[in-house]
Amino acid sequence: MGSLNPDFGDDTVIVTGGSSGIGRAVALAFGEAGATVINADVRADSKNPDADRPTHEAIREGGGDAEFAETDVSDPAEIESVVEAAREYGGVDVMVNNAGVYTKRRFLDVTPEEFEEVHAVNARGAFFGTQAAARDMVDRGEPGCVVNTSSDTEGRASWDHSHYAATKGAIRAITRSAALELAPEGVRVNAVAPGPVATEIREGWSEEASEISGEGETPTPPLRAASPDELAGAYLYLASDDASYVTGETAWVDGGGRIA
Ligand code: NAD
Repeated sequence: MGSLNPDFGDDTVIVTGGSSGIGRAVALAFGEAGATVINADVRADSKNPDADRPTHEAIREGGGDAEFAETDVSDPAEIESVVEAAREYGGVDVMVNNAGVYTKRRFLDVTPEEFEEVHAVNARGAFFGTQAAARDMVDRGEPGCVVNTSSDTEGRASWDHSHYAATKGAIRAITRSAALELAPEGVRVNAVAPGPVATEIREGWSEEASEISGEGETPTPPLRAASPDELAGAYLYLASDDASYVTGETAWVDGGGRIA
C-alpha cells in the first residue's frame, strides 16, 4: 500500500515529551517531513532502550533542524518560554502537547497527591500548552494548529488508572472547547487517542503491552500493541492542510479497541 508524503518544510513544530515513545516518533516524523522541531521535555535522553541518541540529534543527523528545550510542561511559565523560543524560527506553527505520565493504582488507593501529579503534567500541560501556542499564533496573526495526545481511556472505563483516565477526559474537553473558541481565529485543535503502545511510560509497560493479544475463540481488537511509529501519521495528518476542515476531533488510533 502507498503512503502519504507530507511536507512541513516551512513549519516550526514543538513536541512536548519528544524524547521518548510516541513523542519521539512524532518528532522524528515531523523532522523527516522537513519541519524545524523543538523537543520540549524534562530530559533529553530517551527512555527508549533502542535509542542511541537524543531526538534532536537524530533529526539533525538525518539532515533536519531540531533543538532540545528542557521544559517541565506542568509549569505554564516553562511552556511559555519554549513557545517564545520558537519565535527564533518564525514562531510555532504546530504544537503537539504529548508529554504524559502514568501510574497504575486501584481507584480506592489513589491519593490526592498522585491525582495532582498526573493532572499537573497531562491535563494542565495540555491546557496551557494549547493556550500558550494559540495566544502566540493569534498575536503573530499566523494561525496554526494544536494536536493533543489523549488516550483510549478518554472514552472508556479503566481498571487501575482512573486518575490517569480523568486527565485524558480533561484533554477531550480541552480539545473541544479550545477548538470552538479558536475557530474564529483560524486555529485548529485536535487530538489523537492511542490504544496500547509499546513505550516505557511506566517501567515494564512496553513488555506488558507487547503481550496484548486478542487471540481466542472470538478474537477481539486490539490484536497487539502499536509501535510508536504507527501513531505518527495521525499527528501529521491532523497538523497538515489536508485536515483544514477538521477541528475539535479526536482520532482514535487504537487497533480497533473502541469497537470491541
Ligand atoms: P513515554 O514515557 O515513552 O514518553 C513520555 C515523554 O514525556 C518522556 O520523554 C518524558 O520524559 C516526558 N515527560 C514526562 N513528564 C514530563 C513533563 N512534566 N514535562 C515534559 N516532558 C515530560 O510515554 P508514551 O507512552 O510515549 O506517552 C506519550 C503520551 O501518550 C502520553 O500523553 C501518554 O499518556 C499517551 N498515551 C500512551 C499510551 C501507551 O500505551 N503508551 C496509550 C495512550 C496514550
